Amino acid sequence: DKFGIAQALKNLGIEELNMGSSTGSNWIKSNGAVIESYSPADGKLIGKVTSGSEETYEEIIKTASEAFKSWRLVPGPKRGEIVRQVGEALREHKEDLGKLVSYEMGKSYQEGLGEVQEMIDICDFAVGLSRQMYGLTMHSERPSHRMYEQYHPLGIVGIISAFNFPVAVWAWNSALAWVCGDVCLWKPSEKTPITAIACQHITDKVFRANGVAEGVNNLIIGDAKIGQLMSNDKRVPLVSATGSTRMGKAVGEAVGARLGRALLELGGNNAIIISKHADLDMSLIGAVFGAVGTAGQRCTSTRRLIIHEDIYEDVKSKLKSAYEQLKIGNPLDESNHVGPLIDTLAVDMYSEAIKKGKAEGSKVVVDGEVLSGEGYESGCYVKPAIYEVENHFEIVQHETFAPILYLIKYKNIEDAIAIQNDVPQGLSSAIMTQNMRESEMFLSHGGSDCGIANVNIGTSGAEIGGAFGGEKETGGGRESGSDAWKVYMRRQTNTINFGTDLPLAQGIKFEF
Ligand code: NAD
Repeated sequence: DKFGIAQALKNLGIEELNMGSSTGSNWIKSNGAVIESYSPADGKLIGKVTSGSEETYEEIIKTASEAFKSWRLVPGPKRGEIVRQVGEALREHKEDLGKLVSYEMGKSYQEGLGEVQEMIDICDFAVGLSRQMYGLTMHSERPSHRMYEQYHPLGIVGIISAFNFPVAVWAWNSALAWVCGDVCLWKPSEKTPITAIACQHITDKVFRANGVAEGVNNLIIGDAKIGQLMSNDKRVPLVSATGSTRMGKAVGEAVGARLGRALLELGGNNAIIISKHADLDMSLIGAVFGAVGTAGQRCTSTRRLIIHEDIYEDVKSKLKSAYEQLKIGNPLDESNHVGPLIDTLAVDMYSEAIKKGKAEGSKVVVDGEVLSGEGYESGCYVKPAIYEVENHFEIVQHETFAPILYLIKYKNIEDAIAIQNDVPQGLSSAIMTQNMRESEMFLSHGGSDCGIANVNIGTSGAEIGGAFGGEKETGGGRESGSDAWKVYMRRQTNTINFGTDLPLAQGIKFEF
């Protein structure tokens, strides 16, 4: 245990007694399936966690519904003060939680710390927001009338999260939902349940110290079945789901059938256009970090490079030599650049995608390989790979959650933008150029069709201040900064008559 995992687990309060679902301080006993969480870093068992059953789910929904009645009456800025304290508690536990994220999920320790920093940042944002949940006022067309709108809390917000950002996505949702006056029910990925239990401890201490009722911060452990219960439950007015497009379609359909609200954050197929006017050194760093960071397991990972024909060969050879220098190994060892994939199933999908690409005609620049031997015992380590392809290949149109980068050549900027847009997904996009006309065209209404479009930065690494999300098969949801908070509230328009007559709108006469 040279990385101090046992101590981190201890500091985070992880112990056998609480390895399950919870309404806050109350850990619920259940006879649900036991999930074993193994680290992809070294293949060791981290702990066993018990899934919630349907009874667990019912118990939590009852407690949460009761808690909502009192939580919605707490003034917004007071709720913000409690979220401020959650941010402080996260600051205190940043190293321990960052380490556990790295160990359970497999991203580098630096990225684990970065993930916790994002949670802290969104808490800070939410504190400010708690005094700024503004509505508009309107001029009434009738005399002695006033009109305005206000935002009220929604109720129980269901949060379904993916393995790759095991804790930040929950914080993006819950910090905002709490200041909006909602209560949260989080179903983390079944691949990363222990980091979720750690978060439950951190927030719960704060909520109880402030005398908040049980049921404002709920956690339920489980797989897709629990996600389906939430999606079909009309007592959950908003389901915020992050994961694959396949999952999003199932959740969207179920929530839509009951006319609930779904906030969907799904897969991406992100590209960087590298123009002949680009700063090549910057482009190279952006592309390599985007493609191999988190071992290609970010929704915003760079999957495609669309490169101008004049610089194509140069960029290709520079990429090749950069990839030769990549060190692959334990993510907690800070000298490594690339850690493992989440599990051996993901490794199979990586190998399958490479095989499919070759069958479709992809040409090897840096070939992929599943690594074995000392340090790679977990079976989850793979070599980042690069292939030359055509954009229309089926495998290129598909998001493979692994470090596989595709190179595509272009002649003119219009073609490059068309290629960038010509995939089913619409999350993140970027152009590397110092030419103002090209960058403005890329950002214009005729340009990138993605939710995120960057100039001279890569596709990954969004800041919390902006609204995060994407179009088309990425699901259309927006989370985090800007006005993303509005989806967590219900809007009400109010008209008040302070006169002595009752004039009808549109001048309608009605007399008796
Ligand atoms: P996944 O779809 O396998 O699982 C995500 C979550 O959905 C898990 O908690 C899972 O239990 C649950 N789930 C699965 N099927 C369900 C169903 N039918 N009903 C309800 N819940 C269900 O995804 P994953 O492998 O954990 O994560 C990787 C995917 O997530 C990638 O596609 C990635 O692009 C995407 N992602 C998107 C964003 C974003 O913000 N757009 C962020 C992170 C990850």
